[in-house]
Amino acid sequence: MAETDQPIIDTDVVIVGAGPIGLFAVFELGLLDLKCHLIDILDRPGGQCAELYPEKPIYDIPAWPIISGQELTDRLMEQIKPFDPVFHFNRMVSAVERQDDGSFVISTDENEKLRAKVIVIAAGGGSFQPKRPPVPGIEAFEDTSVFYSVRRMEELRGHDIVIVGGGDSALDWTLNLQPIAKSLTLIHRRDNFRALPDSVNKMKALVEEGKVTLQLGQVTELQGAGGQLTSISVKGSDGEISQIGCSRMLPFFGLTMKLGPIADWGINLDENLIPVDTEKFATSESGIFAIGDINTYPGKLKLILSGFHEAALMSQAAKKYIAPDERIVFQYTTSSTSLQKKLGV
Ligand SMILES: Cc1cc2nc3c(=O)[nH]c(=O)nc-3n(C[C@H](O)[C@H](O)[C@H](O)COP(=O)(O)OP(=O)(O)OC[C@H]3O[C@@H](n4cnc5c(N)ncnc54)[C@H](O)[C@@H]3O)c2cc1C
Repeated sequence: MAETDQPIIDTDVVIVGAGPIGLFAVFELGLLDLKCHLIDILDRPGGQCAELYPEKPIYDIPAWPIISGQELTDRLMEQIKPFDPVFHFNRMVSAVERQDDGSFVISTDENEKLRAKVIVIAAGGGSFQPKRPPVPGIEAFEDTSVFYSVRRMEELRGHDIVIVGGGDSALDWTLNLQPIAKSLTLIHRRDNFRALPDSVNKMKALVEEGKVTLQLGQVTELQGAGGQLTSISVKGSDGEISQIGCSRMLPFFGLTMKLGPIADWGINLDENLIPVDTEKFATSESGIFAIGDINTYPGKLKLILSGFHEAALMSQAAKKYIAPDERIVFQYTTSSTSLQKKLGV
């Protein structure tokens, strides 16, 4: 079939982003009989949870005292199964056109076209790309000795690990990898961390116990051959250069947000985030909603539980937008037989 002949896929809602919030939106929209297609640049669901920290425990999901990023994703996938969402992975939304009837035609870079009454942007930080530290020649070690995320902790077992950075990711991984590392050194520019105070305190306790080395300074050079790191040079605040033997380096300098074409959809943006109201999570374009890490409003917390709440309220608003004359009866899943029928329980 010629590229232009691809049939248009009709659906109620297109969700851009299959991170935890996009996934939970399928559930809330499904309870209101809205069918969803999800588009994601990645090759699997879960967003940051699956891509950046699949094995890291999360402690602040209500009713789950501890759950890993991957397990949370798996549970969400199980929860939304009754609503039969359709996933379009490895796809970027390339264009959005509003039709005369108010619906949207969404095109992907694989030349698919989807027609939807509503678009939900759940694109997190956009297509997230780690910031590369300014160390000459670092590219030669990437994906062999230098990693910007931890896909499988086991692969780091027994290594001399250097973690670089002072934010949550650097501190989280220091705490999580220390028990399996042969040695672990945390390098940060100054003795002032941007991470949760609890994580900083735990890291400092490990330093006192001699289980983690904390070194203040900046990485200036990498040594090794064939992609295999053997040591790094660190310049301290006094200008002194020291060498640290290591086989793995994990720099956590934050993520660059690449919003991609979303920036061209005519929606008002505030520094790459989408301002929304906190009643409907509507953007400046009617029929386009934004939930999860991608949105901004006074008091916003980039937490999974906040995104879940946003998905619930957004779904009510989306339903009213699509079917303004339909009365929405508020119901509990635990007592409504009609909701239970939808869930197949
Ligand atoms: C190391 C680390 C630890 C964390 N720990 C916790 C914690 O303990 N508790 C907590 O509540 N939160 C935690 N967070 C934050 C949490 O992961 C985020 O709040 C959450 O992932 C946001 O979900 P989301 O669905 O909005 O976005 P994301 O998880 O970022 O998912 C967005 C998805 O959209 C896709 N996408 C983006 N742009 C496009 C596009 N143009 N076209 C198609 N697809 C696109 C991306 O590929 C991605 O899959 C942590 C984050 C990190 C990095």
